[in-house]
Amino acid sequence: MDSSCIFCKIIQGDIKAKILYQDDLVVGIEDINPQAPVHLLLIPKKHIPTPLDIKEEDQEILKNIFLAAKKIAAAKNIGESGYRMVLNCNEGAGQSVFHIHFHLLGGRKMGWPPG
Ligand code: 5GP
Ligand code: ZN
Repeated sequence: MDSSCIFCKIIQGDIKAKILYQDDLVVGIEDINPQAPVHLLLIPKKHIPTPLDIKEEDQEILKNIFLAAKKIAAAKNIGESGYRMVLNCNEGAGQSVFHIHFHLLGGRKMGWPPG
């Protein structure tokens, strides 16, 4: 828990968010500024600032994130049409919240390469 972190505050319930998924290690919320018809953020409950801070002991968190994505994609009907997961590491890659999160995007055709 980092008291200055917006995602820690969401996880604590101090800031509101639309929570669509939750298990013991991970929450899934709707992105406040969606870039696709389906745009969730899969966020570890543990405060991990950037992907560079992921440790061996965090394996279970990562496993839960990918299994949650699969379940959410099926529930939102974007499994067959396709979805994208994005993890931005540091500002140069577009990270703006320094508590790691995977974007789960779907419901439209995705371009490649990403900008
Ligand atoms: P990043 O740029 O770090 O990869 O992604 C941060 C994401 O968090 C952005 O897509 C942004 O819209 C989202 N975001 C930032 N603040 C909030 C918030 O208070 N609530 C929710 N639900 N999403 C947020
Ligand atoms: Zn945090």
